[in-house]
Amino acid sequence: MFDSIIVGSGCAGAVIANRLAAAGKKVLVLEKRSHIGGNCYDEYDENGILIHTYGPHIFHTNNGQVYEYLSQYTKWFDYSHEVLANVYGTLIPVPFNLNTLYMVYEKEKADRLKDKLISTYKEGSKVPILELMNSDDEEIKDIADYVYNNIFLKYTMKQWGQKPEEIDSSVTARVPVSISYDNRYFTDKYQGMPLDGYTKMFENILADNNITVKLNTDAKEHILFEGGKVYYNGTEFTGDVIFTGQADELFDYCYGRLPYRTLDFVFENYKTEHFQPKGVVNYTVSEDYTRITEFKYLTNQKDDSQYSKAYTGSDDEIPYYAIINEENLALYNRYADLAAKYPKLKLVGRLAEYKYYNIDAIVAKALQVAEEILA
Ligand SMILES: Cc1cc2nc3c(=O)[nH]c(=O)nc-3n(C[C@H](O)[C@H](O)[C@H](O)COP(=O)(O)OP(=O)(O)OC[C@H]3O[C@@H](n4cnc5c(N)ncnc54)[C@H](O)[C@@H]3O)c2cc1C
Repeated sequence: MFDSIIVGSGCAGAVIANRLAAAGKKVLVLEKRSHIGGNCYDEYDENGILIHTYGPHIFHTNNGQVYEYLSQYTKWFDYSHEVLANVYGTLIPVPFNLNTLYMVYEKEKADRLKDKLISTYKEGSKVPILELMNSDDEEIKDIADYVYNNIFLKYTMKQWGQKPEEIDSSVTARVPVSISYDNRYFTDKYQGMPLDGYTKMFENILADNNITVKLNTDAKEHILFEGGKVYYNGTEFTGDVIFTGQADELFDYCYGRLPYRTLDFVFENYKTEHFQPKGVVNYTVSEDYTRITEFKYLTNQKDDSQYSKAYTGSDDEIPYYAIINEENLALYNRYADLAAKYPKLKLVGRLAEYKYYNIDAIVAKALQVAEEILA
């Protein structure tokens, strides 16, 4: 009955389903959760506030093709994301930028440091904190030490349970010092929030008569991978299978579990116009939680706190962040090798590929995979 089976209805699964269906393929989407949209899912809470159930998601991209593609399924709320760090009660903009410099140092010193930063790294650039720490200039190192100790170290340890040095440089590169006066967290050409929310956007992406979505359906209970063949409900399935869940789970953790970080969210409601001055405040030195999001800024209301901890694999935990290092990637590659024994199986997405993807990057990848399948 179906040409393709797609496991998961997040960005990866939904976009591939959409493209295959548009080309006339009959697509079955199996989703183990009770809703579509993966971790981008949003829903109205009991106060009528649109919250992001799995953490705040802000769309941003320089990829015009991805923006145009998604714009067929949503209008956008023009939102530029700004983040503050709470450093012992003082709120400063992050990424650390030239505005932050003037809040941390007295004017004469800040003037001198600004000139040095601009002449060394060029105005408009973003310098990873670990690179700044290797500078030969004592005053630049001094800035790096401030950022490292007050914005980076404890936050990173809360987030990752590891020191910054122990973490893959692709992760630490996401915490730069910005040599500009731009307080925006993202500087991409296109940024915003789906006007009616992510879930509505995913409903539109999946609204095709060629797509059948089965919610509350764990693919593991229906699909069997054995001896290079794929079976769906006991019958051999020879079409394409796109798997966007965990690669280790797919093969019953036969080589052991891939390590992840998981998150705890605490949602609270306050009857006040604003709880904090910007959408997100990171708690970089003191509190146990990593950040508080006031969704009101992003979507129109609400606050939550976010705690990070090690993922243990228990049923009530969600694997959020792959912990990228040599050892874990070697383990992942063993699962990828197993998957390669099934010619029609593709692993796509943040879980299946064991890597961090922003929304735009996974949408771009999904568009590319769909094109390859159709070719
Ligand atoms: C806390 C947090 C905040 C983020 N914020 C941003 C942001 O601001 N901007 C941004 O661009 N990106 C952000 N991201 C990244 C974004 O969440 C990902 O790019 C996106 O969710 C990846 O989509 P995906 O389809 O690969 O995975 P997912 O969204 O995880 O979708 C996978 C789907 O597969 C389903 N599934 C898994 N196994 C099975 C199975 N066995 N059977 C059936 N279904 C299954 C899952 O239930 C899930 O719905 C953030 C990520 C996190 C963790």
